[in-house]
Amino acid sequence: MSRFAKKFLENMEPYTPGEQSDVPGLVKLNTNENPYPPAPGVRRAMAYWGTFRTQKPLNRYPDPSCGPLIKTLASYYNVEENMVAVGNGSDEILAFAYMAFGEKVICPKISYGFYPVFGEMFSGEVREIPLTKDFRIDPDDYADDEGTIIVANPNAPTGRDMGIEGIEKLLSYGRLVIVDEAYGDMGSESAVPLTGGYDNLLVVRTFSKGRSLAGMRVGYAIGHRELIEDINRIKFSFNPYSLDSVAMNAAVESVKDEKYFRETLDKIVRTRQWFAGEMEALGFEVLPSAANFVMTSGPVPGREYFEKLRERNILIRYFDKDPIRDYVRITIGTEDEMKKLLEATKEILNESR
Ligand SMILES: *Cc1c(COP(=O)(O)O)cnc(C)c1O
Repeated sequence: MSRFAKKFLENMEPYTPGEQSDVPGLVKLNTNENPYPPAPGVRRAMAYWGTFRTQKPLNRYPDPSCGPLIKTLASYYNVEENMVAVGNGSDEILAFAYMAFGEKVICPKISYGFYPVFGEMFSGEVREIPLTKDFRIDPDDYADDEGTIIVANPNAPTGRDMGIEGIEKLLSYGRLVIVDEAYGDMGSESAVPLTGGYDNLLVVRTFSKGRSLAGMRVGYAIGHRELIEDINRIKFSFNPYSLDSVAMNAAVESVKDEKYFRETLDKIVRTRQWFAGEMEALGFEVLPSAANFVMTSGPVPGREYFEKLRERNILIRYFDKDPIRDYVRITIGTEDEMKKLLEATKEILNESR
């Protein structure tokens, strides 16, 4: 650290992203990316951008109101345009939400690593509530506190869905509830339809997982128009151009292709169900997942399993903390990738016998 750094930097514990390696032949199942490419329309638009023959050339600033993307999302979700805000990945939208609403935040103890980090960053107080024994978020545990509630649904890294009744229970406390639906298209019910009826609900979503655009950095929030106004006050006090022209264009094209979107999600869900069955047959416990990953624990200790897969050029995620130390999180890739993982797992099990 330099001698010029602010005091708080010293004690801050930054978020640790999963390893981003691109060694040839690596089976990468550690950061919940979509194994399939973005929709063909996105790829065509990108090729077009490559020629720089566009209505919004790159020597010009992007549209700070993000008009076309907001219009597209509002119409897709059937909400008013003033109920949608967009940002550079949902991480940025979440950061804006902490800046706007994060004096006091309550989140699950086992969840997305950014929730406590943002608390430190934006000098808010964060209280972490343990999950139940079977790794669920129990809304009753959030009743007696005060402050903004933030949950991921389905939760990460567990994959468990708390159900829309759970979200409604949280909303009934009257405090602001931020629902992070990063994995909201893979088997859980979205809270977006509730946004019309509650002024204390902000749903945060991303193009990174379901829409195969992790490299593009597009996220959005849907909620009551006053919440969106607050988010935009922050955005326009920080970086009005946080979404670049290329990313906005790609996002709009992605939303246009519903068929491709549903097909890739279906493939991921089918691969997940099949893969979970195969793992169970090998003696693993697999938590019920509504996401594009599963959390599992088996005959080989978590760390050892992680390391032995790594030796075989297969990357999954291991979290060295209680109470998930015995578990690993495995992203659902293509069927082919999962077969490689299963083969490697059988080898590892045979070795340790
Ligand atoms: C991946 C992830 C995000 C981040 O999404 P980006 O839009 O890529 O920033 C947010 N929340 C959860 C729970 C995630 O797993």
